[in-house]
Amino acid sequence: MEFKIKANDESARLGRLLTPHGEVETPVFMPVGTAASVKGVAQDILDDLGVQILLGNTYHLYLRPGIERVRKLGGLHGFMSWNHAILTDSGGFQVFSLNELRKVTEEGVTFRSHLDGSSHFFSAESATEAQIGLGADIIMAFDECTEYPAEPQRVRESMELTLRWAERSKKRFEEHKHDVPWAEVSESGPLDFADRFASESIRSARDDKGLGVGPGELRPSVRTQALFGIVQGGTDPRLRRESAERTIEIGFSGYAIGGLSVGEPRALTREIVESTLEHLPADRPRYLMGVGSPEEIVEYAHLGVDMMDCVLPTRAARHGLLFTSEGKISIKQARYADDAGPLDPICACRVCSRYSRAYLRHLYAANEVLAQVLNTIHNLSFYLDTMRRVRHSIELGRKARSLSEVWSLPEQ
Ligand SMILES: [Zn+2]
Repeated sequence: MEFKIKANDESARLGRLLTPHGEVETPVFMPVGTAASVKGVAQDILDDLGVQILLGNTYHLYLRPGIERVRKLGGLHGFMSWNHAILTDSGGFQVFSLNELRKVTEEGVTFRSHLDGSSHFFSAESATEAQIGLGADIIMAFDECTEYPAEPQRVRESMELTLRWAERSKKRFEEHKHDVPWAEVSESGPLDFADRFASESIRSARDDKGLGVGPGELRPSVRTQALFGIVQGGTDPRLRRESAERTIEIGFSGYAIGGLSVGEPRALTREIVESTLEHLPADRPRYLMGVGSPEEIVEYAHLGVDMMDCVLPTRAARHGLLFTSEGKISIKQARYADDAGPLDPICACRVCSRYSRAYLRHLYAANEVLAQVLNTIHNLSFYLDTMRRVRHSIELGRKARSLSEVWSLPEQ
């Protein structure tokens, strides 16, 4: 994996992430495809929306359909027919958020399946192997997501455990990274994603003198998965700093900020994100996990976060909550029953350009499957367009700092 910064606007960065399955422009919002599917939206529509990277959840895929099955079917890319980049989480967060009966030891976590109650075990090693089997372009070290609030002693111990697990994750990754489902294809050379991408990238690199990547330099680095480390440390800036420094010492291709958006006040989240970013290397991608609202993703992009993911746009859509340039809309409300206008007059998505608020309200009220599909497409489109506008603003040095400023920029 390669990461190039093309422009800076104060702390914000405009970058390019080169993965074995294509290029990702950053800052980027990654839609969540929990069980190898972004609920309600087919892959060809995700293509049309310009999604460059999706997130998959190792915990869910491990339980159903199972890692080995996905691996044999070509990894997640082949299985779900997705030709762009994928990031998988380590499974740690779901184990902690969906399992009240989990048992954490030095070795790993024993947990019960939320599907059938069966007992399972994840360790740094098995979570890393599972992610190699799934074959995402970017995979995450196994970590413990510290709950909020937590006693200082508990936060330190949890952070120390995460650091030991990070080291073990990296060790297992280095030993097995060539077991990735698409490794043979790219190592032996027949034209596949890696080759097609390499030639495209080399072409675009030549067009863009800022990158300066020549043929031959690009290929090897984008032919294996990339492993990211996760910074923990709760809401204590000193622990966050220590966690960042010691995680960097272990050495990863990118760094994530985990353990936030778990119930702490939003001002505190922002403070911890800002102070943690100071300790992360400028030349590596920075991923803020599980964040956030449209306002927040704009704010964090401007603090210097490169990657974000959140279930909010897709989950809210299924509950009729829609994000627009004029604020949030609850489409279930009777006031939209006769509203012939588009959902968002500025949004250029296929939903806003075709359907009225009245129709969307009707679909929701009638419990039509199409309601969830259309609502999800609009919300995702709104998030992706918001980030597109953020990137444009960074490129132009426009310092658009809020959602409304970003949406009042002229079209690019
Ligand atoms: Zn729309």
